[in-house]
Amino acid sequence: MEAGIMRRLLVAANWKMNGDMSSNAALLAAFKAGFNGSADTAIFPPAVYIPQLADSLKGSAIAYGVQNIHFEEKGAFTGETNLAMAQDFGCQYILVGHSERRELFGETNAIVAKKVVAVLAAGLIPMLCIGETLEQREAGVTEQICKEQIDAVLTQVGIKAFEKIVIAYEPVWAIGTGKTASPEQAQDVHSFIRQLLAAEDAAVAAKTRILYGGSVKASSAQALFGQPDIDGGLVGGASLMAEEFVAICNAAQG
Ligand code: PEP
Repeated sequence: MEAGIMRRLLVAANWKMNGDMSSNAALLAAFKAGFNGSADTAIFPPAVYIPQLADSLKGSAIAYGVQNIHFEEKGAFTGETNLAMAQDFGCQYILVGHSERRELFGETNAIVAKKVVAVLAAGLIPMLCIGETLEQREAGVTEQICKEQIDAVLTQVGIKAFEKIVIAYEPVWAIGTGKTASPEQAQDVHSFIRQLLAAEDAAVAAKTRILYGGSVKASSAQALFGQPDIDGGLVGGASLMAEEFVAICNAAQG
């Protein structure tokens, strides 16, 4: 890391399509009680539960946001949520380009880039997910895939915008599979991503938070977060278990 630049760690929870009013309330209560504030944190619940989080997290340092957004302002887009709606309920972060959105809902790099543009224009923080599939890793094209995914956004928003973007590197083969990338495997890709940004602007690269995601657990968090280019985590399955998620957040010293 560049001398004098400290990136505060960020740990985010992706609840995906899980939870209900009572299980959410229990999770939030346990999280508020156990979280020691040593990192920034954000929760991405299903969109219909955003008002519940807005209410429960009022006055706390815990941020929240939606798992997906439409880039248009309004109109005939059945089933979609726009940025003004997310802002109405105090969302600060917006998850963009999660691999499940890319794989199951056909989100291309171009669509993901449009969403990042819209989130930035609204003054919110995009958490941009990138990462390779197992097939791509085995074919030796991990770096190429990550570069393509970053470039699609970079060409639309420019390098300065990356001061406001959080990147989540999530190898698709590690998401929901129980297979965490080793700290060294993750660090290698994080370092590559930071170098990509540094080639455009070293000062911006030194500030950009790059999170790791993919089966993070309390037992693996500390070693991952201890890597020089890993600035926290995006956590799926383990974020639905209060004790586990509290331990992951509290493992982030910084
Ligand atoms: C995710 O959904 O972003 C994720 C990383 O999930 P999991 O932690 O379950 O692998």
